[in-house]
Amino acid sequence: MRIKSIDAREILNSRGWPAVEARVETESGVWAVASAPSGASTGAHEAHELLDGGPRLKGRGMTRAAEHVRGEIARALTGMDVTDQQALDARMGDLDGTSNLSRLGANATLAVSLACARAGAQAQGMELYEYLAAPAEMRMPLPMMNVINGGAHAGNNVDIQEFMLVPVSARGALESVFMCAEVYHALRSLLIEKGLSVAVGDEGGFAPDVEDDERALELMEDAVLRAGLVPGRDMAFALDVAASAWLTEDGDYLLPKRRARMSRESLMGFICGLVDRHPIISVEDPLHEDDFGGFTEIRRRLGGVQVVGDDLFVTNRERVLQGARMGSATALLVKPNQAGTLTRALDAARTAREAGMELVVSHRSGETNSHDIVDIAVALGAGYLKAGAPARGERVAKYNRLMEIEARLSK
Ligand code: PGA
Ligand code: ZN
Repeated sequence: MRIKSIDAREILNSRGWPAVEARVETESGVWAVASAPSGASTGAHEAHELLDGGPRLKGRGMTRAAEHVRGEIARALTGMDVTDQQALDARMGDLDGTSNLSRLGANATLAVSLACARAGAQAQGMELYEYLAAPAEMRMPLPMMNVINGGAHAGNNVDIQEFMLVPVSARGALESVFMCAEVYHALRSLLIEKGLSVAVGDEGGFAPDVEDDERALELMEDAVLRAGLVPGRDMAFALDVAASAWLTEDGDYLLPKRRARMSRESLMGFICGLVDRHPIISVEDPLHEDDFGGFTEIRRRLGGVQVVGDDLFVTNRERVLQGARMGSATALLVKPNQAGTLTRALDAARTAREAGMELVVSHRSGETNSHDIVDIAVALGAGYLKAGAPARGERVAKYNRLMEIEARLSK
């Protein structure tokens, strides 16, 4: 089980920018590769993604991060037991020496961390989800499929970043995935009939120009009905507001595409209004990433609606604890690359779970074809998996993996 070598290189992500892919090989000849995704609307408190800077690829190269893997990280981890995930991740943390992994790069450490986990699972003849799971935790998550893209993920006039389908009446992963696919296709036909664009955004959802953001929800309701389903009963909705992107220096919010200015109070009213009028069961990042108190307030006003902390928590255990103390959210968005190692991400997730929060395991807008997040979601027993639309290869890879795991578990 001892690590013999670690290698790394740049690969492409789904937006055409580089990603780090790491390869870990053991003395017994078992090997695995893994990669780290990239966000576009990243939280200020995330672990640091190390970019090359300079003229090449607008500064987004990852050759330095890959060199850190091949050099310092490889030297430090060679000879260690590939199945001792905590020790490997702690070693990388110590080696880095900063709290947000800014020296070596979280893109470097996460790729290595996941490659070690994959190799460890293989060495033990296990699937990754089995290898990571505490047996009592395992559960199939419900997809949250992003079918209308806005904000930083699309060039349209919609300010809210994500409009998602949640197939609440589905019995099982396969049915949940294809229910969403039915609605996705119904939405496409509807958009064509209305002369609206069916070009897609970064996460595979459509990116039409519409009268206002509320119109996107109305289109989704029409699509659900057209697919023969009942909005709310069969198919509920979820939003990712990604409000940090709208914050201005004076503490107001400016929706950049519509140039609408809102105070904190009017933003809360705007979101509560959308939730009143539509079958929305989950709202992510309704306020900016440091407004723990505002989250607490809107969570109270939204009653039983799930409030998800993404940029608020950045998959960070300390921030989750603060949110738990203040009652700021009812769910944690789990993005392993925000944490920078698998151990840190699982720690944050289990801390949230102990505080009574739900877990939503999530992709990033710049993805690779890796489906490790699906195994992580199943292993944690997360309630939800957020992986974009049922379209674009890097999103589809996740949903196909989810159905594959369901098929395996039912044998
Ligand atoms: P990002 O967006 O991957 O571009 O940060 C995803 C999200 O905000 O949930
Ligand atoms: Zn988000």
